[in-house]
Amino acid sequence: MANRIILILAVLALGNAPRAQAAAFYDLPGAAELSAPPPPPAQEERARTRICVDPGHPNTFNSATNMVNGTNENRINWQVGQRLERVLKEAGYDVVMTRNAELHSVENKDRARICNAAGAALVVHLHCESTPGTGFALYYPDRQGTFDYKNDPENGFRGPSAQVREDSRAFSAVMFNAMRGGLAGTLAAQGVYGDSRTAVGSNQGALTFSIFSEIPTLTIEMVVLTNRKDAEFIKAAAGQEKMAAAIAAGIRLYRAP
Ligand SMILES: [Zn+2]
Repeated sequence: MANRIILILAVLALGNAPRAQAAAFYDLPGAAELSAPPPPPAQEERARTRICVDPGHPNTFNSATNMVNGTNENRINWQVGQRLERVLKEAGYDVVMTRNAELHSVENKDRARICNAAGAALVVHLHCESTPGTGFALYYPDRQGTFDYKNDPENGFRGPSAQVREDSRAFSAVMFNAMRGGLAGTLAAQGVYGDSRTAVGSNQGALTFSIFSEIPTLTIEMVVLTNRKDAEFIKAAAGQEKMAAAIAAGIRLYRAP
């Protein structure tokens, strides 16, 4: 009788055991199950559009870590870059960053190469201006340039291609409209310019990361950091979010996730 009660209790206990435990007792997988192929990927796992985000700066020529209005350009580029990465991922994009820390130093030609190699659809280079004035401005490669660093083995490298220049110009127009709308009443829209008119571009014909780019490339001078009002806007979390959202909107209008 005692044995029978124990048996009944054991059966009841097993009946109430969590399914995983019961499976461990009775449903050990056979060899066929162990070697079964993995299930096919779900529909949502199709290739997403990949965007390259380049928070500009630490490199051999400029760390951009000097303090301006209580912050520095490198820090702002990095902080907005991280927010943009998050916003783009939430919108369904794949995102490649050109650096992985605020003080991570990467040469400008390597920033372009990282984006090319990643198979990104386009790249945005995030910077802040430090000239008189206020507001945001966009620069795209309007001419082919020649890389001019005598000590670099790739000195004399020419680019970008006519296709990249044309696509970059179209991308810059779409981005300008999106940013002007997204930042209206907050930040002045300066305009869209060829990057041949920047300091480096006037020497090389184009910015270094434009010369090496094989994909549409755009430099965004997000604010004039030496302008106190611009600096207060972009130092605040709300301002950075607004900037990231405006840039993401421009990307989305040009290229769907
Ligand atoms: Zn810069």
